[in-house]
Amino acid sequence: MDIPKQYLKPRSVEEALRMASGCISPFKFIAGGTDLMVHMKQGNESANILIDISGLEELKQIALEPGGVLRIGSLACLESIAQNALVREHFPVLAEAIETVASPVLRKSATIGGNLLCENRCSFYDQSEWWRQAVGYCLKCNGDTCIATGGKKNCYSKFSSDLAVVLISLDARVTGTGELFSKGLPLENIYTGDGVHPRKVRDGIMLLSVELAVDRKFRSVYNKLRPRRSMDFSSLTSAVSIDAQGGINIVLGGVDPMPVVARGNIHQSDELAVRAYKRSRVVDNDHYSRSYRKRMISVFVKRSFEQLGIDQDAPQS
Ligand SMILES: Cc1cc2nc3c(=O)[nH]c(=O)nc-3n(C[C@H](O)[C@H](O)[C@H](O)COP(=O)(O)OP(=O)(O)OC[C@H]3O[C@@H](n4cnc5c(N)ncnc54)[C@H](O)[C@@H]3O)c2cc1C
Ligand code: SF4
Repeated sequence: MDIPKQYLKPRSVEEALRMASGCISPFKFIAGGTDLMVHMKQGNESANILIDISGLEELKQIALEPGGVLRIGSLACLESIAQNALVREHFPVLAEAIETVASPVLRKSATIGGNLLCENRCSFYDQSEWWRQAVGYCLKCNGDTCIATGGKKNCYSKFSSDLAVVLISLDARVTGTGELFSKGLPLENIYTGDGVHPRKVRDGIMLLSVELAVDRKFRSVYNKLRPRRSMDFSSLTSAVSIDAQGGINIVLGGVDPMPVVARGNIHQSDELAVRAYKRSRVVDNDHYSRSYRKRMISVFVKRSFEQLGIDQDAPQS
């Protein structure tokens, strides 16, 4: 692990952005550090400078604003969000999903912003430097081929933020600094679909908040496939939400380099289920096989439809 040479601790968003724009060598914002530090330790991240934004109280608030927007600051920790009365009242599925992320101790420091920007995963990438050197570097670590697919020229690392899956199903928007966020944007728009560079949020751009509209009155079902019910990243995450007007969102994580989204209305549920299934570019880069994870997409969607009271025939693999 390369030890960062400088550790900066700003007292405001403005100061953090000033520090970032003054950096002349690679830097990273660090919030809870629960994702970033793992990648630094594995040698997959080598920033010389860390800008610790975890003390910025202005980005930790959770509030219901006039107009019915629930705003969650990007530095709110997962535990505080899961316990928040407004979240539990209006978006209980978010609290439910948080309780499946990492462990209780990690959720005290892990933030929502860090979760939305956490690195994609792959069993050939999430390894020590020594391991990757022995096997041969892949596209995501400056190699020239994808090991998981036996030589393809695209990276299919798995999208691994469970909370993005839920929040996209709730039509969340995000605010941040920089041109990308000048008007705020739907959360799904910050992801690229390229496994090597999965996010559009460049270093120096700060995520500020997540916005949810309470008047949509969503009903949601969340599912997560993992070997153990504690401390395991997802092999498949699904969230299906229906709003009061019968709009339906199916969102999948862990089966593509970006969240897989199928949107429509309740009368199109079969078609949307097929669309989500077909769009998922699952490869063998997880402890579960590609075919099992693909099959489980149908199982999860069917199960979610049943729990939401929707008649359908989910596609079979
Ligand atoms: C054992 C273990 C289990 C885990 N299990 C899960 C799981 O089940 N599901 C899951 O979704 N995740 C899981 N994680 C991943 C991670 O812990 C969480 O996603 C966590 O929420 C990341 O938040 P953080 O504040 O620690 O991010 P950090 O590690 O501080 O940052 C992550 C990335 O986001 C950037 N960043 C952070 N905040 C901002 C901001 N406000 N603006 C701009 N950039 C920012 C950082 O520069 C970095 O690139 C797990 C991690 C571990 C170690
Ligand atoms: S999917 Fe292929 S290129 Fe991407 S991280 Fe895995 S092995 Fe590397």
